[in-house]
Amino acid sequence: MSESEQEHSDRHKYEFRKVIEELKDYRGSGTQLVTIYVPPDRLISDVMTHVTQEHSEASNIKSKQTRTSVQDALKSIKDRLKYYDTKPPENGMVLFSGAINSGGGRSDMITRVLESPPQPIQSFRYHCDSEFLTEPLEEMLADKGLFGLVVLDRREANVGWLRGKRVDPVKSATSLVPGKQKKGGQSAQRFARLRLEAIDNFYQEVAGMANDLFVPERHEIDGILVGGPSPTKDEFLDGDYLHHELQDTVLGKFDVAYTDESGLKDLVDNASEALADQEIVEDKRHMDEFFENLNTGEKATYGFEQTRRNLIMGSVDRLLISEDLRSDVVVYECPNGHEEYEVIDARHSTPDHECSECGDAASVEAREDAIEHLMEIAGQRGTETKFISTDFEKGEQLLDAFGGIAGILRYSTGV
Ligand SMILES: [Zn+2]
Repeated sequence: MSESEQEHSDRHKYEFRKVIEELKDYRGSGTQLVTIYVPPDRLISDVMTHVTQEHSEASNIKSKQTRTSVQDALKSIKDRLKYYDTKPPENGMVLFSGAINSGGGRSDMITRVLESPPQPIQSFRYHCDSEFLTEPLEEMLADKGLFGLVVLDRREANVGWLRGKRVDPVKSATSLVPGKQKKGGQSAQRFARLRLEAIDNFYQEVAGMANDLFVPERHEIDGILVGGPSPTKDEFLDGDYLHHELQDTVLGKFDVAYTDESGLKDLVDNASEALADQEIVEDKRHMDEFFENLNTGEKATYGFEQTRRNLIMGSVDRLLISEDLRSDVVVYECPNGHEEYEVIDARHSTPDHECSECGDAASVEAREDAIEHLMEIAGQRGTETKFISTDFEKGEQLLDAFGGIAGILRYSTGV
């Protein structure tokens, strides 16, 4: 992935997260909120047919209010579908529509279309409930990473992938390693030697499977997990069977009871702590670098205003934004033409503002998402944007002590 694609994808994900947070909070007074997940290969005409079908079936709904709401939602979805040709955009799309409670017994009709989610939508889903169905999208967004999985004992092995939360078994092998009991007629020494040879051969075979699968993806892989009983997994790792470039990416070895496909899932469960750490490894690195620069030099900036000024100068190497930050920037203008802005919580209404230069009441010129505002400037200046988790101490500090916005500078600016 190139830097600009990464930039685009971070921004895209941020926009997705925002819409999902909004949709999650909505409730319908009945089962009247419609969600449709459309996979990339589904024809729009098929979706249209399905929606028409649901529309006619909705006429059986007893409650008049719910019936009308569902049919309105479906009509609105059909209107949206007309904008698409034969197929949905890349990775598919999700349509949300329905009458949501807006307080005081009133309701508002809303329709949202989320195009091109971060990963392809797997299957078509039609969902009608008192809430929108957002979990599959949330899982995609939480999805950070690609991990190689190996489980083995001396009899059996499985290799596969962990993509986000999904375990994909790919290949398996069984061994010809004889049991510990020798058959009659063989010398004990010869038997032991043959057995060790068979074990060695099996480890080589397992490593071959793993290498074939993982080596081509070694630059994309975030780590490899190895599971099995002791001492098999230790022998396998200590024996340098894996390709040397893969050995450096092994995150750890874990005990698992089974080495069939279910063992791959056990492995992921048992490695959950290591995986959680791995997810924030990069975030930690950025925050460590930020604090180092803050303490020793001048190549650090933080807060909306200071960071914005540095961004405009083109001096920011990496823009660090807290994943949990939701801020808007409001631009005010007073009657005397002084322009000022203020950063506020995105959930709050726009406050009144007095011009700090002349004291006159200023009017609101614009209100926009503060993060998008900064990312826009960052994009124009070749600055990378990184979203930082709050699941570790320095990540929490970014949000609580630095207003959720910071930057590592290319050079000191004194701003
Ligand atoms: Zn003024």
